[in-house]
Amino acid sequence: MPNKILESFMNNYLNINSAIITLVTIGLITIITIVAYSLERRITKNSPFYQRFLVHILEGLTLGISMLMLLNIFRILLNHGPVNQGWLYANAQLTILLFCMYLIRNRVTLLINILMPFIYYSSMNIRRLDSKYIAWFAASYIFLVIIDFYIYYETEKLQNSEWKYLGMQTLFGLAWWILLWVDHSFPVVEIFTMLVVFLIFMSIIRFCEKKLQDTMLSYDELKAKVNYDELTGVRNRANFDKISKQLYTTYSQEDDIPLTIAMFDIDHFKLFNDDFGHSTGDNVLRHVAHTIERELFLKDTQGQLFRFGGEEFIIVFRGKTPEDCIPIISDLRDNLRHSPLFLNGSQLNVNISFGISKLEKSDTDFTDLFNRVDQYLYQSKRAGRNKMTAEGITYDFDELVN
Ligand code: GH3
Ligand code: MG
Ligand code: MG
Repeated sequence: MPNKILESFMNNYLNINSAIITLVTIGLITIITIVAYSLERRITKNSPFYQRFLVHILEGLTLGISMLMLLNIFRILLNHGPVNQGWLYANAQLTILLFCMYLIRNRVTLLINILMPFIYYSSMNIRRLDSKYIAWFAASYIFLVIIDFYIYYETEKLQNSEWKYLGMQTLFGLAWWILLWVDHSFPVVEIFTMLVVFLIFMSIIRFCEKKLQDTMLSYDELKAKVNYDELTGVRNRANFDKISKQLYTTYSQEDDIPLTIAMFDIDHFKLFNDDFGHSTGDNVLRHVAHTIERELFLKDTQGQLFRFGGEEFIIVFRGKTPEDCIPIISDLRDNLRHSPLFLNGSQLNVNISFGISKLEKSDTDFTDLFNRVDQYLYQSKRAGRNKMTAEGITYDFDELVN
């Protein structure tokens, strides 16, 4: 008996078509993972309903299309050699279905999983309606639905425990193979061979998915390192250099939409380093960057902050003129002034000086604008610091009334 099982197992699964189905399943799941990953990054729990709805529909569509592709590939293979009774195909489908339950926590996927037993065999002979089998069908269907819901609501718990993960996929596979057994006559022992194949499928997929996830996470980390400043966490110079080219291309062609750049530098920053040590200097840099970034966000200014280098920062204001920016910047500076840094019992007051200018039609590239802003910043410094210079005119912060 065991020899027979082994023999049928070898005949059914160890052939070129099985290899193709396995590879196709892995490929489809990889595509679903990448699509889901890039879609889910665009939404959070607080995103508007229509956005979440759209993402879930798109994920559901990806799942639906994958199932169709698998079906078509299976049909092609059926005409080219033995793909035993479609069991392997069914296992591949189940793998995708279950995997999507783990991967995409969305209601469309849950619905597809719940409806699948009805879609699956609608066109074939269905033993499930025979009075002898109807109870079996109902019981195994309820069993499957409970498992679907459990996986849907407890995904995180399952992902964190390999044993629970394995246990739930075994129960899912078992429920399905009992359902299939209700509709088709095959020896009960086959349920277990199918289950083993299904678990092997899932293990291969899980292994690949983990590798893919690791790669994606390290890619995210790398991207953050490349674009964000390690000390302050705000955008870095490389990021600024990259967008400055795009900004010039976009805004130099615009007649009506202005682009204004503000550059600021901490006044007498060297003294923080000299008097309190380099790490205090670092803390001052963090404090300034976080205060300005927070205020830019809270006041809904649309300004983007970059650390250009050392204690010099740049703010990009799209769609704003220097006149629009003067009260915003005065506000930023007041805020910084009213939130001093307390370190080791000392109160550190930080002042900053600004240069502000708008992209002009006559600017031949972004450097022209940049040089102007730099020059205005220098003008603020020469005028005694703690000031801002916009288009050549220097303002004393304390004399400005918002
Ligand atoms: P000014 O008012 O003219 O801007 O004077 P300042 O002292 O702020 O300017 P200066 O250019 O003389 O000094 C800047 C100092 O910033 C010199 C450099 O050692 C220090 N610095 C640059 N980057 C960092 C950093 O990441 N951490 C710390 N702690 N210091 C830094
Ligand atoms: Mg300075
Ligand atoms: Mg400086």
